[in-house]
Amino acid sequence: HAKQAGRGTWRFANERLNGLHMPQAQLEVQLRGALERGEFAMHFQPLIELSSGRVRSFEALMRWTSPVLGPVSPADFIAVAETREMMGGLGQWALRESIRQMCAWQAALPGVSVAVNVSATQFAHEHFVAETRAALAEYGGAPGLLTLEVTESAVLVDAAQARQKLLDLRALGVRVALDDFGTGYSSLGQLRSLPVDVLKIDRVFIQDSHTDAAFIQAMISMGHSLGLEVVAEGIEDAATVARLQALHCDLGQGFYFARPQSAGQAVAAMTLNGPPSSLQLS
Ligand code: C2E
Ligand code: MG
Ligand code: MG
Ligand code: MG
Repeated sequence: HAKQAGRGTWRFANERLNGLHMPQAQLEVQLRGALERGEFAMHFQPLIELSSGRVRSFEALMRWTSPVLGPVSPADFIAVAETREMMGGLGQWALRESIRQMCAWQAALPGVSVAVNVSATQFAHEHFVAETRAALAEYGGAPGLLTLEVTESAVLVDAAQARQKLLDLRALGVRVALDDFGTGYSSLGQLRSLPVDVLKIDRVFIQDSHTDAAFIQAMISMGHSLGLEVVAEGIEDAATVARLQALHCDLGQGFYFARPQSAGQAVAAMTLNGPPSSLQLS
């Protein structure tokens, strides 16, 4: 019986651990078939023009609620999906679903744009640009209303090929944002040669912006001198908004304005803040 108790104790300890940090194996099992079972949804968080307070676009963020595990953070399941070659399907679904929603919004919110995250393996896929073009065509989405968010590491795996892909996306009319800027290892020289349109400063810098003011100022100035629009992510209070406005940061995003919400909730929250007509077209 001691052995049984021992095993019971071990399993209990393990389950408690799961709540804090899910083992990859368990996550992987539940992830298989989750898309087909309809367990995913896209949520949307507004990007606010800091000079006017207007909503300019929405970032689409994937949400997974597993019937077994409960809500799982994308930081956890995307890492597993990437290594188990499951990201292709998930990423394609996220892209198409975000474009579908963007198109569905156009009647009520003309010109509303959407930013979609693209993982490293998704971006590296040889048909990525063609699939993006096909998804836009399928729903009748204007390419100029779509921004793809890529990370420095995703575009630096194979810099020459990535550069060509970014040029192809630009030729298609799609905008590209460099996400989590400042956390990667890209040099300023590499950044200069990357055909991107938007720089998103990672929230670790924004949340320390009272101490990192000079650093943030340098990133914003550099972005502007390269002709890029600059977004600050992770804004959680009014003081940070004021600091970023003073530094002429273009757009802001964060819990201070709104949390990521379902498509319906995101739009309802927006119309409370002002009529849809106040939406600035990009
Ligand atoms: P990200 O693209 O940098 O997205 C921003 C993350 O910051 C989101 O976390 C968002 O909920 C969170 N956030 C926004 N404002 C605040 C704030 O004021 N404070 C704090 N503490 N956090 C804030 P989320 O949704 O958990 O996503 C995490 C990451 O997972 C994303 O980082 C992105 O890299 C990835 N991801 C999410 N959805 C997708 C997707 O559809 N496709 C791909 N490839 N990656 C995705
Ligand atoms: Mg992003
Ligand atoms: Mg980011
Ligand atoms: Mg981030």
